[in-house]
Amino acid sequence: MVNVLKWLGMLLLGIVLGYVLRDTGLSRVIDERRAEAVGTLASSYIASQTELDDRTDVKTVAGLQHIEVGVDQPAADVFRASGVGNTFLIRTAEGLVLFDTGLATQAAKHKRLLQDAVPGEVTHIVLSHSHADHIGGTKFWLAEFPDAQVVTHAKFLEGQRYLKDLERHFWSRNRLLYTFMPEEPPEGGMNAYGGITPDIEVAEGDVYAFTLGGVRFEAIATAGGAEGDDNLVLWLPDQRLLFSGDFFGPLFPMVPNLFTLRGEKFRDPLAYVRSLDRLIELGPEMVLPSHFDPISSAERVRQDMQRMRDATQFIHDQTVAGMNRGDSLWQLMRDVQLPPELALSQGHGKVSWNVRSIWEHYSTWFHFESTTELYPVQIRELYPDIAALAGGPEPLAAMARQSLQTGELEAALHWVDLGLASQPDHPELLQARLDALNQLLDRAYQQGSNYSETGWLKSRIDATESALGI
Ligand SMILES: [Zn+2]
Repeated sequence: MVNVLKWLGMLLLGIVLGYVLRDTGLSRVIDERRAEAVGTLASSYIASQTELDDRTDVKTVAGLQHIEVGVDQPAADVFRASGVGNTFLIRTAEGLVLFDTGLATQAAKHKRLLQDAVPGEVTHIVLSHSHADHIGGTKFWLAEFPDAQVVTHAKFLEGQRYLKDLERHFWSRNRLLYTFMPEEPPEGGMNAYGGITPDIEVAEGDVYAFTLGGVRFEAIATAGGAEGDDNLVLWLPDQRLLFSGDFFGPLFPMVPNLFTLRGEKFRDPLAYVRSLDRLIELGPEMVLPSHFDPISSAERVRQDMQRMRDATQFIHDQTVAGMNRGDSLWQLMRDVQLPPELALSQGHGKVSWNVRSIWEHYSTWFHFESTTELYPVQIRELYPDIAALAGGPEPLAAMARQSLQTGELEAALHWVDLGLASQPDHPELLQARLDALNQLLDRAYQQGSNYSETGWLKSRIDATESALGI
């Protein structure tokens, strides 16, 4: 009986405490501080596991993990919390507007730092698209400002739905590419992906305009190539500021990332060209992307946007022309190269992968090369027999070695695949694979440090080294 009374007393105390804390917002603040502490640990672990590419002096996507979380003021009444993704806060006399809310692990800190710098009521949360590194803090902000209007592209909900439905699929692929990621996606709570319901959805091509404290805002739905078809930018016409989210991708300027190695839906190059035309017409004085730093030269911004537009159109047109000529996809992946005046970083998007994606977007996966393409029996299934006919793994290892000597790295990998099909732990073949992968990695660094390509090659190098017991 005494135990029951004690238990009831505890329960009552819990209820009263919960009520009091909820009323004062203390419980929310405790949640935020806890999330901040866990997030800071996670961020420093990830940074320690992400090499800064010291082999080139180009800006790379890997650099995002090394950005300090802090607050600065890139323009009058505009504040930025930096990190992997930026959170922007725009101050007006009647309230605060947020643009993007960062990565979940950095979002609580973003919120505390921004609120220290700019106290006030958040009335609008404008989200650039449904990727986790742009919406991670939304639940934290809404917990304190439940009446804030969440503004997104009309396709945001579908983007969020498909990324949530395929969360495990993409997570397992991302873990291979970026080995610092934890084994499991966060389940439940503030850090879990998804669960955001927009109040205002802007259809493609439309603008949602509002004025707050005398400041005019335009949320413009601009689908396209950089990071998906649910892209929204925020334009301040009087200040000529463009909050671009991931419209340009993480690097500006860059070859658009029409294809993602993790396998997201294809991004339409012509929709992107249309959106770029629209933004070029606005004539921004400053672009404030949600990754890395703002760019404040109007002339540079205009030139870079035009180059991105022309390069995207060029890759598209060259691919289509080659298809009509009857060139093979593989030939086009080799032949389509940007001319010097359109050269752009391939640190995130890659020309040859875009060529393939455009080809298969327009004409799907049947290349009219072999009847076997139509059926589920792959050439790899014949590898053990081919290897036996070739005389076993040794002659194939010799062929791989020869290809390595002549710099034919892709051919070397094919010989290795054939040989390993007959003996998966053959040390000479594994060593040839390791050498080919290391040379491909060197080549990838020299050719623009594509973050997904280097991530994939490094994960294959790790797997090969452990197979060799290194
Ligand atoms: Zn992003």
